[in-house]
Amino acid sequence: MKRFTKSFTQQQPLPEAAIERAVEILHSGRLHRYNLTPGEVGETALLEQEFAVWQGARYCVACASGGAAMQIALRAVGLKPGEPVLANAYTLAPVPGAIHAAGGALALVEINDRWVIDFDDLRRRAEATGARLLMLSHMRGRLADMEALTDLCAELGLTVIEDCAHTMGARWNGKLSGGFGKVACFSTQTYKHMNSGEGGLLTTDDPDIAARAVLLSGSYMLYDRHGAAPDAAAFEAVRYDTPNCSARMDHLRAALLRAQLPELETNIEAWNARYRVLEAGLAKSNGVRIVPRPPEESYVGSSIQFHATGVEQDRIPDFVAGCGARGVELKWFGAPEPHGFTSRYDHWRYATSGQDLPQTRKALATTCDMRVPLTFSEQDCADIAEIIVDEMSRAIKVG
Ligand SMILES: *Cc1c(COP(=O)(O)O)cnc(C)c1O
Repeated sequence: MKRFTKSFTQQQPLPEAAIERAVEILHSGRLHRYNLTPGEVGETALLEQEFAVWQGARYCVACASGGAAMQIALRAVGLKPGEPVLANAYTLAPVPGAIHAAGGALALVEINDRWVIDFDDLRRRAEATGARLLMLSHMRGRLADMEALTDLCAELGLTVIEDCAHTMGARWNGKLSGGFGKVACFSTQTYKHMNSGEGGLLTTDDPDIAARAVLLSGSYMLYDRHGAAPDAAAFEAVRYDTPNCSARMDHLRAALLRAQLPELETNIEAWNARYRVLEAGLAKSNGVRIVPRPPEESYVGSSIQFHATGVEQDRIPDFVAGCGARGVELKWFGAPEPHGFTSRYDHWRYATSGQDLPQTRKALATTCDMRVPLTFSEQDCADIAEIIVDEMSRAIKVG
């Protein structure tokens, strides 16, 4: 019986250029982003410039984490204490955490079985809560119809913050994710599309929001040392009213990211080649339902999801365990208890005040998810798909 032996959490080594630059920075001792020699433009400022260009945004602020970028975004758009913030119910724990930390009241919105936000429920929840803000997670890289969503949010008066932790480099109808909302947040921690251990990036085209975000990130009024920030006038308006929330990125992490940015497109191709092998392999099972990607979506296949439909829900744990015993790590979102990276809304009791979302529960009850590190080859992906298909047919036979 085939067994898979590679680790699902092993990343590729960082590019040589990243290692060389990191060593130079370590020798210099100047790790803090504002610790510069006269005339020097630091790594963090350069990263902000380069990422803004790559993302097609006017402004970029480098942050300590994706979650920190989201907190800053919420404050920068003017979240008031206790104000409702809408969020799709399928997301990762840092999202409710950021809303909570920024003083917002989480109001969850249903998803559909394609794992994206349900527009009818968005309208209902927006009207019921009177919310002005939507924190939209493109969870597991799945994009909603972004044109329709943008229209709906305009109609409902919602300001959108995009959580692009899983969609750095993904597009809807040719437009990059992060380019639809007022602000976009990216994570650069190890499991995302660029790896600096921890880190986050915030982009926006709005000078007022950008100025607040720079100050919020902890600029000590050294905002002239930023790489993609608005001019001094934008800061004059807000500098006395904006707290320093100390969530800066340092030169070391920025250097690691600068070396990875030129490789991002190549890595996206590599992820998608692996995704296509997995998708084709899994399509051979009649107990696994793959959700086709809409033609408008250019995704980044850094993870794959499917519905385990071949067995009753109470048998899914056995199927997942069968795959696990053969080295294939699936995450099942129907599990009642949180473990690992939690992504089920009912695990965030501090924030959800008992809100129940039957449609989301139903969609997640059959959802299996697998991450696809680039250390897997296409052959590895074929082997993994074979094991999953095999385990599903065994599970169906046992009935
Ligand atoms: C990783 C992630 C974030 C941010 O994570 P950090 O660990 O704070 O960088 C936000 N949203 C989603 C959906 C994520 O997966």
